[in-house]
Amino acid sequence: MRLRAPLPPGSTIGILGGGQLARMLSLAAARLGVNCHIYAPEKDSPAFAVSAAHTVAAYDDFAALEAFAGKVALVTYEFENVPGETAAFLDARVPVAPGVAALRTAQDRVDEKTFISGLGIPVAPFAAVSDIASLEAALARIGRPAVLKTRRFGYDGKGQTKIYDATDPEAAFAEIGRQAAILEGFVSFEREISVIAARGWSGEIAVYDVPENHHDNHILKTSTVPAGISPDVAERARTLGGRIIAALDYVGVIGVEMFVAGEEVIVNEIAPRVHNSGHWTMDACHVSQFEQHIRAVCGWPLGSAERHSDVVMTNLLGDEAARWRELAAEPGLHLHLYGKSEARPGRKMGDFNRLAPRQA
Ligand code: AMP
Repeated sequence: MRLRAPLPPGSTIGILGGGQLARMLSLAAARLGVNCHIYAPEKDSPAFAVSAAHTVAAYDDFAALEAFAGKVALVTYEFENVPGETAAFLDARVPVAPGVAALRTAQDRVDEKTFISGLGIPVAPFAAVSDIASLEAALARIGRPAVLKTRRFGYDGKGQTKIYDATDPEAAFAEIGRQAAILEGFVSFEREISVIAARGWSGEIAVYDVPENHHDNHILKTSTVPAGISPDVAERARTLGGRIIAALDYVGVIGVEMFVAGEEVIVNEIAPRVHNSGHWTMDACHVSQFEQHIRAVCGWPLGSAERHSDVVMTNLLGDEAARWRELAAEPGLHLHLYGKSEARPGRKMGDFNRLAPRQA
């Protein structure tokens, strides 16, 4: 359902998911006098410590969802794997933003790519795969190398495998668990970038500058702004982000991951939520992606997405967060720690933004 009137300070909004993204949303909301009620199944969720209220329950516990809906003025979420039925159940009771249709599109890689290419926006060649026969047919059409990904529930490179000349399709399909999948042509890109954009209930849109993203083992390591791309490519990327968010009739912040090959911009995937490659906005922009999301979903005017500094955001993975003392001592460095107790390898424990005066 749609939001009828802007939510004033003092309102309580619900967030599904209690990780670092919910934590940073909650902190941004608190600054605007908006309270957050976190709903998450894990009892040690990082967002609980900074939020007004929380519920520990499963996403398919409809009695708990009913009670939650009774306590919040709207619901948003911090991750894209919110079950569609959960979002629909809540949307029958309170506004859910981003909306259920946009969520469902972003949850399925085939639907997502069909939607984006339907807008005339370049994506890698792709085909739906359901068994070995359709995989063989897709490989014959798309060629190798190619990337086989599960249609749903993939993240940080999980649920995907590359198919080279010598790869046995049967082995590749087994590797991703013989699930419904998508085959994509391999894009030999020079850079990975993303566009972080926000849209309000009124259709107002704000688009941030374009970060260049580097991954380590498929996990985001750094985002650098400005990216090493021409102003023309950056502008086209931002325009594509704006077109996608408008076409989805989306409310909130979206992350759109893209490849740059030569002068071409190719969309890889959309994340219907605030995005790790937008953490630099916390310290290098007038209004961060987190505050922007709260403004957007609450029906407030969007803030300025303007960037005032050059910045490199670095994720602290696993035991890298043990460097907190040294990082905290560095002038001009903005440290964010997520309050997670256990530093498993590759786990996102925190991040920092190194700022420099804006050059261009
Ligand atoms: P994804 O889960 O779709 O974000 O993919 C994770 C990473 O795999 C991307 O950030 C790229 O580095 C790489 N990748 C995904 N799809 C492709 C593709 N079609 N061509 C080349 N690299 C890809």
